[in-house]
Amino acid sequence: MPEARETQLEIDLGALAHNYKFIRSKISPEVKFMSVIKAYAYGNDSVEIARKLEELGTDYFAVAYTDEGIRLRKAGISKPILILHPQPVNYPEIIEHCLEPNLYSARTLQLFTDLAEKMNQENYPVHIKFNTGMNRLGFTEKNFEEIPKKLKTTGAVKVASAFSHLAASEDWQERDFTLHQIHRFQKLAENLLDHLDYRPIFHICNTSAIFNYPEAGFDMVRSGLGLYGFSNDANLDKNLKPVGTLKTVISQIQDLEEGDTVGYSRAFKAEKATRTATLPIGHADGINRIYGHEKAGVFVNGEYAPIVGNVCMDIIMIDVTNINCKEGDEVIIFGGPQHVTQLAGAGGTISYELITGISQRVKRVIIQ
Ligand SMILES: *Cc1c(COP(=O)(O)O)cnc(C)c1O
Repeated sequence: MPEARETQLEIDLGALAHNYKFIRSKISPEVKFMSVIKAYAYGNDSVEIARKLEELGTDYFAVAYTDEGIRLRKAGISKPILILHPQPVNYPEIIEHCLEPNLYSARTLQLFTDLAEKMNQENYPVHIKFNTGMNRLGFTEKNFEEIPKKLKTTGAVKVASAFSHLAASEDWQERDFTLHQIHRFQKLAENLLDHLDYRPIFHICNTSAIFNYPEAGFDMVRSGLGLYGFSNDANLDKNLKPVGTLKTVISQIQDLEEGDTVGYSRAFKAEKATRTATLPIGHADGINRIYGHEKAGVFVNGEYAPIVGNVCMDIIMIDVTNINCKEGDEVIIFGGPQHVTQLAGAGGTISYELITGISQRVKRVIIQ
């Protein structure tokens, strides 16, 4: 790969393949794999990532919203796609594009079934969500009966899968709670099976659960973060390869004298002769203001350079006083010498937020 000449997110499909195979090796061969590629495949590029995952043999995809699924269908992705959080207004498009809705309440089950009947569908694949403690979306034991009641009166839909989501699968302190969630899911699953004459796919594990609760694989696992090279666990991270590397370049070098200030609100004051470099990336690209004021930094020619002053919309300034560098040199924001988790931590956030926040303005470059 030649040096970056502008801000770009390099997406390494070889790393994706490595991660997919590593995660697969942690589950039984008969357990299906759902690749979670919501939010542009966690800020990467959902179409390129989906194509590669289809080639690698993923069984299912999941995205959050209907438009994300439509985008994949238009790009020719043919594997089933679960829409995790559709709104009823999207249901006609869901059917039109052969997408599969998560139905998480009596209301959504009723509305989707009504439409499927109106559109003369038979056994249209839908997914039932159980709320086992996350308290975000899903049926509980209290309104479970609405499911068989509805399913008995219609042939328009068929339950392709039933699933739940763990609230703290990465946190060993919450092990009892997680085991309780898994147990609750097991009971709800059995209850549902009593009412069906076929067996849907059951699934509850996200990336951290695949590693921490391998006994809870059921029929399928859902992995997002792990595919992109992170695991919420520094030890496991060693087995994964980050897919994205965010790079930029030095636009200009500034030599400051003692007392000079840098950027908006004069937020950085040079206490001695200081050399800064100006970079073409800012908060509109996803490098939030929280990273300014030397809270975080980037890497120039292998050396750490703190971000000084306020992060601007399109620009940041870094301190390169002790770094041998020149205008046009490549700068690494994350990837390589700087792990995403490290940068995210410096800003008081998590890898998920940092990588999904890299805006669509940043050019994506695919590496095979
Ligand atoms: C985002 C999401 C996942 C993926 O979680 P990771 O921790 O990234 O593996 C799985 N299931 C649901 C319901 C999600 O919303």
